[in-house]
Amino acid sequence: MKARFSKLTLVTVALLSLTACSQSKPDASKSSAKEVTKQTSTKSSAKTSVATDSSKKGSGEASSKAGKPDVKLDAGVTYNGSYYSVKGKYGEVMIANKHYPLSPDFNPGEDPKAVAALHELIAAMQAEGYPISDQYSGFRSYETQVGLYQNYVNQDGQAAADRYSARPGYSEHQTGLTFDLIDTSGNLVTEPGPSKWLLKNAAKYGFVVRYQEGKEKVTGYVPESWHLRYIGKEAQEIADSGLSLEEYYGFTGGDYVDK
Ligand SMILES: [Zn+2]
Repeated sequence: MKARFSKLTLVTVALLSLTACSQSKPDASKSSAKEVTKQTSTKSSAKTSVATDSSKKGSGEASSKAGKPDVKLDAGVTYNGSYYSVKGKYGEVMIANKHYPLSPDFNPGEDPKAVAALHELIAAMQAEGYPISDQYSGFRSYETQVGLYQNYVNQDGQAAADRYSARPGYSEHQTGLTFDLIDTSGNLVTEPGPSKWLLKNAAKYGFVVRYQEGKEKVTGYVPESWHLRYIGKEAQEIADSGLSLEEYYGFTGGDYVDK
């Protein structure tokens, strides 16, 4: 089973069918060959720290629309040219949603601290007997998201795609702090057991389940039991609050401004 992953290079269509199904029928996750891959290439080296502007300047390729600082800022939100952030209790917290995009050339790779925490979380779940894979879907560059999103739009139309997939520059996966958990059959993790475990325990490892039931209007996305966002120490307080990141820190979320 595992060997299968490393051979896959593009996920996309698979991810789609699962997410689409899971909106109405969580149990549909068992159905067919839905596979997700991670970008193994991003795993190896400890790239730059998240807080560093590691963008490749002057490449001129990805210069288009996302990331333009014409966003209406909430109080407490700042922009450093690459990403927006808020002041958390223990330090800066990067934010990325349909209101606050990332610069197209913001390309930090996986955050080493977040990945280390993720491995601990996965090991803990495996120790509990949950069939969680060591593979996951983590960092995605702006360019990767261009292809992914376009596939979804082609398949489902833009309105539907916008409910579960981010436009390029708006994906939290571009932060390097976000990971989709995958089970040993190659599906995104949607089963009730591990999903509940995550809601209860992910914060111990510094993660929040980013898109939860009843929060679509605030987060801009349908619930995703498998999508974890690394926060660090404050994750526990956020989880205890029952609030989305938007509500907890008080920044705008919901749909795209141009809709
Ligand atoms: Zn995700």
